[in-house]
Amino acid sequence: MHDKSVAELARELESGKISSVELTRQFLGHLKQEDEQLNSFITITEDQALADAHAADEQRAAGKATPWTGVPFAHKDIFCTNGVATTCGSKMLANFVPPYDATVTENFRKAGAVCLGKTNMDEFAMGSSTESSHFGATTNPWGLGKGEKRVPGGSSGGSAAAVAARLVPAATATDTGGSIRQPSALCGVTGLKPTYGRVSRYGMIAFASSLDQGGTMARTAEDNALMLNVMAGFDPRDSTSLDRPVPDYTATLDEPLKGLRIGLPREYFAGDLNGAVEEEVRSAIREYEKLGATVKEVSLPHANLAIAAYYVIAPAEASANLSRFDGARYGYRCADPKDLLDMYTRTRAEGFGAEVKRRILVGTYALSAGYFDAYYLKAQKVRRLIQQDFIDAFREVDVLMSPTTPSPAFKQGEKSDDPVTMYLEDVFTVAINLAGIPAMSVPAGFVDGLPVGLQIIGDYFSEARLLNAAHQFQQVTDWHQREPQ
Ligand code: GLN
Repeated sequence: MHDKSVAELARELESGKISSVELTRQFLGHLKQEDEQLNSFITITEDQALADAHAADEQRAAGKATPWTGVPFAHKDIFCTNGVATTCGSKMLANFVPPYDATVTENFRKAGAVCLGKTNMDEFAMGSSTESSHFGATTNPWGLGKGEKRVPGGSSGGSAAAVAARLVPAATATDTGGSIRQPSALCGVTGLKPTYGRVSRYGMIAFASSLDQGGTMARTAEDNALMLNVMAGFDPRDSTSLDRPVPDYTATLDEPLKGLRIGLPREYFAGDLNGAVEEEVRSAIREYEKLGATVKEVSLPHANLAIAAYYVIAPAEASANLSRFDGARYGYRCADPKDLLDMYTRTRAEGFGAEVKRRILVGTYALSAGYFDAYYLKAQKVRRLIQQDFIDAFREVDVLMSPTTPSPAFKQGEKSDDPVTMYLEDVFTVAINLAGIPAMSVPAGFVDGLPVGLQIIGDYFSEARLLNAAHQFQQVTDWHQREPQ
């Protein structure tokens, strides 16, 4: 059952060949055994999962099943789950049990899906390797066969590793600057970051609110569509949620790609891009030509400013968002505070890890009087130019394609002492968040036995088109079906 997709599992359940309780037991057994090597889960919710599976079987017997009823999956540990620890990978929230569900959590619950637990992540979603988690690093299942410990990418590395290792068929994730797409690429799974505002941020612990977006991870594009069907939609509890109808994202998967206009941003096939990765990506694009698409080069003239703008704006917003963690109301509090100030300062000094502190310091500095105009305001102006680059490109083409990352999964420890090298992992992904447009990463080949991701970028609200393009590619390739040893 572990190799089956969400769509296939739904059919098994529908046919009555297996019950959700049996399926959930199988998945939990496998998960507990395999995750010792991977550390892709922070919390496994065994009892709750079995109770939910039981309820799902009853729901199905009563003729009230949805495509998700009784299907196991996992949540990134950034989505609040009522009554279940939600840590965001931090010591600060290690003891936090939310008294409410995120909208995304609630939606999966209503659909009858069975959550097996919460996946590991970089602390507060800041990182590209899932090494900064308070609960230890996650290991990429690829590479283990050769005895190598490679990073799964981040910050949603736990979700990506778990899906790649077939511990769950699907997992939720979030993407502020690449945290769905980069780990999807490094673990050989399929992930989608939707348009900003498409998926509610309510109950999703905030990092950089103007960039954060919840999204999907699974092995197939079809399963990403099934996830988005549940996740997308207007939510009055999120002031930046957009009130637009939600299509059935599975309905257009089979449309032919004939005539699809693909643009290749010149700036995304340059710089430190690994030559072997480029070759795999170009050969994937040739596959699209065989499917009837046309390809031309385009330019995103401000691409080289994206990392600089992102690493001002994201920390600035983080510094404001993370001021709520002060020991007063919930989360970690230092022992025996002398007075209020002592409580604030020691709580934050002890509760946050090094990367989170670095972001808070950088962000506070960029927002401070005297530096606001030079850094924050300037970055916001650059952001507008980057957005315009995409608007102009989508006048000429339907989608853009590029590598998701400049190179395949790196070794654990290789970049963890060098923040700037780590930030450059995001060179092809952050501009998409600055513009607010959707993008996917789709498995597109291997270099030295490690997966390579093809990034497909679309105009606002073009999720259906992206999923269609990814699905058609997956009908003629099998990169997404490869299994790590
Ligand atoms: N790697 C980027 C960062 O560290 C993006 C993280 C994310 O998308 N959550 O900020």
